[in-house]
Amino acid sequence: MAQAAQLPIISHYTAYKPRPFTREERDSATILYGGLTWKHERLMQGALHNMKYKAEPLPNIAREDLDAGKELIDVGACCPTIFTTGSLVNVLKKEVKEHGKDEVNRKFVYLTAGACGPCRFGQYHESYAMALDGLGLRDFRLFLLAQDELDQGPGNGGGLDINMPMSLGLIWSILCGDLVTDLEYLTRPYEVNPGQTELVLRECVEQLYNVFLHRPDRGKKYKTLAWHLMSKYFTSALRDVRKKWDEIEVDHLRVKAKVKITGEFWLQTHEGEGNYNIKRWLEQEDSEVVPPPVAVWLHYLMHPTIRKLEHRNSTSKHPKVESLALHALERIYRGTYNRFRKALANLPHELPDQEELKRLAEPFYHFELRGGEGHMLIGKALHSYHHKTAHMICELSPYSCMPNTMSVGSMANVVGKYPDLLYAPIEVKGDAEVHALSRCQMILTEAKKRAQAEFDGVMKKTGLSVERIRKYEAKHPELRKATYCVPHRGYVGTAANYVMHLACDKGLARA
Ligand code: SF4
Repeated sequence: MAQAAQLPIISHYTAYKPRPFTREERDSATILYGGLTWKHERLMQGALHNMKYKAEPLPNIAREDLDAGKELIDVGACCPTIFTTGSLVNVLKKEVKEHGKDEVNRKFVYLTAGACGPCRFGQYHESYAMALDGLGLRDFRLFLLAQDELDQGPGNGGGLDINMPMSLGLIWSILCGDLVTDLEYLTRPYEVNPGQTELVLRECVEQLYNVFLHRPDRGKKYKTLAWHLMSKYFTSALRDVRKKWDEIEVDHLRVKAKVKITGEFWLQTHEGEGNYNIKRWLEQEDSEVVPPPVAVWLHYLMHPTIRKLEHRNSTSKHPKVESLALHALERIYRGTYNRFRKALANLPHELPDQEELKRLAEPFYHFELRGGEGHMLIGKALHSYHHKTAHMICELSPYSCMPNTMSVGSMANVVGKYPDLLYAPIEVKGDAEVHALSRCQMILTEAKKRAQAEFDGVMKKTGLSVERIRKYEAKHPELRKATYCVPHRGYVGTAANYVMHLACDKGLARA
């Protein structure tokens, strides 16, 4: 009888499962997190410290993180995955060197956002797990924070209780982080004393950190929700920020090209080497950057559920009631953001209407195509074009990102239909800076010409001169304060709107 062939031993894939993080460990283990700007992360730290967690943001992404990530994860990974994994790897390597593996496994846990869906975002944790394997740290614990549940409860050992007060603290800190970031980018290009915006910004962020640190405890569920929505605690803190911001002197007559940043979530939010420091570079190149708030993404996340309920594809027994509740929630969300904006003299930009973004993008990109920022990249570019809020769009596309490739492809169609829309898609690999920036510069040159032509046109139309405006400003010093809100008067550039505002609203043209 022929001998049976020996079957190969199959080693099945086992997904990473973290060891429990217990309630008792909460006082000794530090939660690491990252992925946003230093401002958002500092305010989130305040919210976490308030909940008695030890929490530390990872250092800002650096070029070395790309190399560390490339070494340990899949070759085909998208650039944000490589950077963020590399960042965690470099921190853990350093800690292991100083304290040993057991101590690192005991002393730290990593908290990151999770999701499912077609892009690699849903698989980030697998990349982290792969890197942990490579480092011999399979016992290190990383946890996912679902983006669509405010009350996930105490999971896996009870050390991390993702409850309503924690989620609201984190969301509110993100909203405040967005608003101060918006103020920063609105002000710095026009500051008269170089470096003053940065100094005031740092003071304000520390002040807000303390506001989150001392946030009062208002119970676990709906009481805390009601308090967050109605309390004046945050608006009065933001009014204090506004008072500090008042100290910054600005010159709104500087002609700048306005550049709206869009693109993949992580790349567009990041400020540092992960995107070639492109926002700072654009400012050095005489632009005013319009940064993307994280709040737009959170708002976007509500919409698939709303649509599902509207189409009754949901498993819900009461789709109509739930849809109404979600619409109400959406109004409350925008209302909260606007309340915070009002405390800051309405300077930060308003959140775009998600329905409008969807409608604008619809002929080019179907809103049901999820992954990355979905239809929003098209929607935001067209929103900006129609509302005249930027001279050009700089879209940051990560190397090896499927959803972004689709959006850049669709933008070819958009640009065909709107030939005067200035659009610079920048592929970011992390190590091709000169190529990316020179590509951006080509479009920026055209944007700067448009900003100058627009300004010259307004000066001519109003008959005003710079000397005359300066004299008027000397008598009205409030015009030179960073908190002075230059209204939109139908132009893109700040300087052009400012002159038009002085001419029409202040009567300077007739004087
Ligand atoms: S959107 Fe693109 S870059 Fe971002 S996580 Fe998904 S695949 Fe990666």
